[in-house]
Formats: sequence, structure tokens, C-alpha cells
Amino acid sequence: MMRAVIFDRPGMDNLRVMDVETPKPGPNEVLIRVKFAGVNPVDYFTINRGGKPMPHIPGAEFAGVIEEVGANVRGVDVGDEVVVYNRLFDGSCRYCLVGHEELCVNGGLIGVVTNGGFAEYAVVPATNAIKVPRSVSLDEAATLPVGALTAWHMVFDRAGVRAGELVVVFGATGNVGSYAVQFAKLAGATVVAVSRKAGRVRDVLMGLGADYVVTPDEAQALVNELSNGLGADLVIDAVGQATWNLSFQLVARYGRWVTAGALTGGDVTLNLPSLYSREVTVMGSTGGTRAELIKLLELLSSVGSRRPYTLRWVLMGLGRCLA
Ligand SMILES: [Zn+2]
Repeated sequence: MMRAVIFDRPGMDNLRVMDVETPKPGPNEVLIRVKFAGVNPVDYFTINRGGKPMPHIPGAEFAGVIEEVGANVRGVDVGDEVVVYNRLFDGSCRYCLVGHEELCVNGGLIGVVTNGGFAEYAVVPATNAIKVPRSVSLDEAATLPVGALTAWHMVFDRAGVRAGELVVVFGATGNVGSYAVQFAKLAGATVVAVSRKAGRVRDVLMGLGADYVVTPDEAQALVNELSNGLGADLVIDAVGQATWNLSFQLVARYGRWVTAGALTGGDVTLNLPSLYSREVTVMGSTGGTRAELIKLLELLSSVGSRRPYTLRWVLMGLGRCLA
């Protein structure tokens, strides 16, 4: 038996901590003893909408130690520290074959279409268990699959941020947002972090690499000032409905707008002439690839020292989601 966070009907009020049967790994699966788990909006939505199977154990972001491996498993072994690449993928569709597991036609998220990591143990396909280098702590590794990977894929693969660009990040205090700030800075961009809590979180966001921290109300004036009225080369906005009108308007001619989520709702109005006449590109992004997750682990490993805020953001996310 194991302890698990579980719900039998959609709704936050139905979450319980209960003893349930410890799952057994199939021939191509591993059993992971969960050490750390991140809480993200995807978990909140899963709890409110329901997951598979029901009753359901949520948790789309976690890391731990392999406790047991299935008969066919090669490459990972009992005792290995691993972080879970949380996209299920078949490895054989046209997207998987070109390394875009995040778009697999037979995919889905671990913790949404399977039981997740808010439990003492979780079973995942062995191909989703990615070894964590010794020099990377498991708590930091646990923040990578949703927060860091989503931001990395969005900033580098989709938006292709280049040195010298002006990048505006809405929702900068979120798990994805705080990583997007760091990665845009890593790419050499000038980074404007936008948060309703700008006053309270300025120092933290500056510490992550933001050049400016403003509230949504202040964003337009600052972007105008920094760009001589031209606008931002890239706007990253996973807040959704609540900020779309402003964030789309901030994009410069020939600029890009990208999102990997719609926290406040997904229905927006787009004025087509304001899109084509400015030659703006609107992009979607979702999760990332296994190769990118491995790249992130190598990056963290090479950085060596712990960045102090990563885990804190995850915990703040937990507070927000359960509030
Ligand atoms: Zn596939």
C-alpha cells in the first residue's frame, strides 16, 4: 500500500490523502519512489475536470528513485535517480520520428491521462524516466518537466529568441514564466517581466535575470520607451484572456507572440488587420521534447550551484492552486 493524493469526483474539495494499492510496473515500465513533485495549473485543471483513470492521482511533474523495473526495461535500473518526461508518446508516429514527442498523435500527459506523481510511488513507461546527473539535486530536477521544459521549448524552439531582442514575459512569477525570464536572458535578450505583484516580486525577478519588472498597467509605457514606440520583438503570454488585448498590442511590427497556456481563459478576439498589417506571428507551444529535457539537465549540471528560487516558485504554485 502507499499514501496518495487522490480524488474520485472532479473538484478541489474532493481531494483526499488515502492509502491505495501500490501500482506494479508492466514489462516496459518502471516504479518510481517519488521524492519531489511540482504543482502546476495543469494539476488544478485536472482536479477540476477529472482525469484518467478515476479515482485519479494527479501530479504531472515529479522526480524520484527507481524502485522496480519491468522485465524488458534497459537503460535505467533500480536505484537510479530520475525525472519524469511527462508526455506519453508512441515513438512511431510522424511527430515522434522527427523528435517531437510533445506532439505525438497517441500522446497525453502523465498525471492527466494516467495516474501521476502526488503519491509515494508512481509507474511510468521506462522511456519517460530520464536519469538525473549526480550534480543536479532531485528537487530542482522536479521543476523541469513542466516549468522549465515548457519555457525552454517556447523561448528557443518556437520563438527563437536572439541576442539584443526586447522580450516581454507576462505572468513572470509563474513556474513557466519565471523560467521564461531566465531563458530569454540566457539568450541575450532585454527582458521585461510583467506581474500584477511587481512591487513585491521585483527583487526576485531581477535575480532571475529580468531587466525591468512592471505591472500590466505600466507595461505599455515601458515598452514604448525601450523601443522608441516600436514595440517588443517577442511577447510571451500564458496568462490568456485577461492579458491578451494588452500583450498582443505590445508586439512590434514583424514581431512574435507566443503562448503555452491560457490560465485565465482561452477565448480571445483577434483583429485580423492588426495581425497582417503588422506582419505579426502568433505561435503556440506545448511542453517540450525529451532531447530538450536532457539538455536542461545538462545545463543545470554545468551551472553547478543551486539557483535559489526554483523550488520556491513551485511551492508558491502549490499554494496558489490549493488556495
Ligand atoms: Zn508519436
